[in-house]
Amino acid sequence: MSQEQQAVLQARNAFLTGRSKPLDYRIKQLQNLKRFIKEKTTDIANAMRKDLHKTANATQLFEILGLEGEINLAVSKLAEWAAPRPVNKSLLTIADDVYIQPEPLGVVLIIGAWNYPIAVTLQPLVGAIAAGNAAVVKPSEVSSHTAKVMELLPLYLDPEMYQVVTGGVPETQELLKQRFDHIFYTGSSTVGKLVMEAAARHLTPVTLELGGKSPCYVDKNCDIRIACRRITWGKYMNCGQTCIAPDYILCESSIQDKVINEIQKCIQEFYTNDPKSFADYGRIINQRHFKRIMALIEGSTVAIGGDSDESECYIAPTVLRDVTPGSKVMQEEIFGPILPIIIVNGLKEAIQFINEREKPLALYIFSSTKKVIKQMISETSSGALVANDCLVHFTISDLPFGGVGSSGTGCYHGKYSFDQLSHLRSCLIKKLNMEGVNQMRYPPHTTEKLRW
Ligand code: NAD
Repeated sequence: MSQEQQAVLQARNAFLTGRSKPLDYRIKQLQNLKRFIKEKTTDIANAMRKDLHKTANATQLFEILGLEGEINLAVSKLAEWAAPRPVNKSLLTIADDVYIQPEPLGVVLIIGAWNYPIAVTLQPLVGAIAAGNAAVVKPSEVSSHTAKVMELLPLYLDPEMYQVVTGGVPETQELLKQRFDHIFYTGSSTVGKLVMEAAARHLTPVTLELGGKSPCYVDKNCDIRIACRRITWGKYMNCGQTCIAPDYILCESSIQDKVINEIQKCIQEFYTNDPKSFADYGRIINQRHFKRIMALIEGSTVAIGGDSDESECYIAPTVLRDVTPGSKVMQEEIFGPILPIIIVNGLKEAIQFINEREKPLALYIFSSTKKVIKQMISETSSGALVANDCLVHFTISDLPFGGVGSSGTGCYHGKYSFDQLSHLRSCLIKKLNMEGVNQMRYPPHTTEKLRW
């Protein structure tokens, strides 16, 4: 039996004991997960520095705080989320108990990505534990140092119920042959299709947290200085390797130079004149992605940056101007610090540009005109829409986080994680008295009964 089969079998046997059902057990596991994060803070920070050149403070701010917030919320709200949910009754069921009872699904497979390796792997685990499931966790092999730290999870959690399997594509493919009760995948749309195909063989439901090109429309009626500050932050954080980073800017040609100037000023302010030597500027995860990103610049006009150092996987914060829709950089998700500007002739054309492409994970609009924002909301579709800021919707647990169409299916965060990884079971409890009420539904179906 392979290591992957064994992990799934152990998790299933643990689940079948029923010990993950009591809420006390789930809360204890969530508290242990929090203890893991606390006690391993330094190990996590060191691993993240090696994998992505993140500083300890950036790791704390953009990975750990959110995860802790999700754990605290689940612990404080679990009793409410897991309680029976009464529903409206019909005349025929007026005397019955009718409610929705959330119940665990079984064994959940969680496949994480490398860009925020702790957040995108362990936040789904919070939902899996809270909902009473067993889980097999597969961290991304690409962020190998962080994956190594996650191997220590079974020292903190019930080691049979929560398994960690490390490895690359062959190990993930072996896992995908097994039967799960839910698969929660974060990563590219290409692999997302393989995951969905494998899941279909067992009729396993999936959550796919994917990516794509998230557009950012800058209206000429807005404070361009403030807009560019927020865009620069959202784009170059983690060296552009953020699933909800603004992928490209759409704006009118009359404001292009101002946008470039303002972004230039922000890059200098945030990362100094020498981002390469600056501690808070990241690196591309590996040489394969470095080469892929550098190739995307070919054929476009560099307005800012453009320099790189392959030996360090360093790519400067870069802006491309007057980019054409047919250029290389517009053919795939950039997932790096390259920001193309595409000229459109106003809002209508921007909306058309967005609607001609796949539905994005996030859509950003900067405008001081409410009507313009409302029009963008009503005439487009995306996983999320944020006006006058970037990324911050990720931090709100009450907002479902996920894509639509090719940017993903399903959602999570807060109660959405709990519901996503629960079966919402319909329950109707009738008593065996009051049989008279039921006469009208029994044959013979006379006209008299219809009148009743
Ligand atoms: P990745 O290469 O780490 O792959 C993700 C997971 O898929 C890994 O665990 C890996 O082992 C597995 N995998 C890779 N190739 C496979 C194959 N052929 N068969 C089976 N399993 C395979 O990460 P990635 O895909 O490069 O991640 C980047 C993408 O993830 C971007 O598109 C980004 O937008 C997206 N992303 C989305 C979110 C979100 O929340 N929606 C978050 C982070 C990243």
